[in-house]
Amino acid sequence: MSAVLRDLRGVHFDVLPPLSLYVHIPWCVRKCPYCDFNSHERSGSLPEAEYVAALFRDLEALLPSVWGRRLQSIFIGGGTPSLFSAESIDALLAGVRARLLVEPEAEITLEANPGTAEAARFRGYRQAGVNRLSLGVQSLQDAKLRALGRIHSAAEARRAVEMALAVFDNVNLDLMYGLPGQSEDEARADLEAGIALGTPHLSAYQLTLEPNTVFYSKPPQLPDHDACADMQRRAEETLARAGFEHYETSAFARPGRRSRHNLNYWEFGDYLGIGAGAHGKISFPERVTRHEQAKQPREYLKGASCAGIKTIDAAELPFEFMLNALRLVEGFAPALFTARTGLASTVIEAKLRQAEDKGLIERSAERIRPTERGRAFLNDLQQIFLP
Ligand code: SF4
Repeated sequence: MSAVLRDLRGVHFDVLPPLSLYVHIPWCVRKCPYCDFNSHERSGSLPEAEYVAALFRDLEALLPSVWGRRLQSIFIGGGTPSLFSAESIDALLAGVRARLLVEPEAEITLEANPGTAEAARFRGYRQAGVNRLSLGVQSLQDAKLRALGRIHSAAEARRAVEMALAVFDNVNLDLMYGLPGQSEDEARADLEAGIALGTPHLSAYQLTLEPNTVFYSKPPQLPDHDACADMQRRAEETLARAGFEHYETSAFARPGRRSRHNLNYWEFGDYLGIGAGAHGKISFPERVTRHEQAKQPREYLKGASCAGIKTIDAAELPFEFMLNALRLVEGFAPALFTARTGLASTVIEAKLRQAEDKGLIERSAERIRPTERGRAFLNDLQQIFLP
């Protein structure tokens, strides 16, 4: 379709984007003081069977929006999904497969907390079809883990990674830097200890103070902005020397081990969101929509329905696309913009030129990518694309 026709018709897809599924499990043993996710301290045993039934209710309500499409990845996140038994995860994945086509090579990730790790449970998840485990280790120093309010020790984290690698060949380790009272040397030592554990994927996040958290109302002493920028730079150098490819702001992978599921978010693909507070994005031939499930687990379990499917205004799509795609260190192919927003590339030409003039992106026929300056001032770069 020509650019002129696209401009006249607004959103139009010749081929719909790849499709993923996000499943939210909203419970944790204890709420961490920095956490702003939709996670709730469990009290007593979890209503696993009722929750899985509610997940199927969500999925069935969304099915008419994705008839005939295949899932290329599933991500079971939270919260702490590893609080659920292997039997419940098996029932969940079997139920998803009964309702939707799942690609034979689909990446299926489950998030696990080292404080709830058990070898038999990990084997059960693998048998249920999970083929990638993501471990929320955060630090390998006991004092820092205590400062973060984590329920596990460094020794438990090491054991959990060993157990995970004995069962899964694809494991991600989440680490944080910029922790209370952390020096640059401590951050580097933590990262080196994480690399030594031998996972093929590592995510390194900066601790930030988010509204509605304990840390936000009673802020601990955190390293300043320059120290955190140095930690990030040194982390990138250390991981590159260790053979990891830096492919997104916080994500590092050995060759061939990039997360397919997360890449689909960053490349502005489609995803169904099921579970308390989960949200998703689905494209149709002439529009792009978002949906969000009821947030409170109690209301959610009582059957509160999806808060509704809303069409994203075409004028907002360029910003939404850039919010994700500009996090990719290698940027994106120019054709991806049209493939994922359904809009003509002409609608962003003036803004791309503006970003280029400011030295925030570089462009070739093959690639649009953030420069080093663009990565350092990512918010400023993304905001250029606001409607
Ligand atoms: S374990 Fe993860 S999801 Fe749960 S409260 Fe802590 S940071 Fe949040």
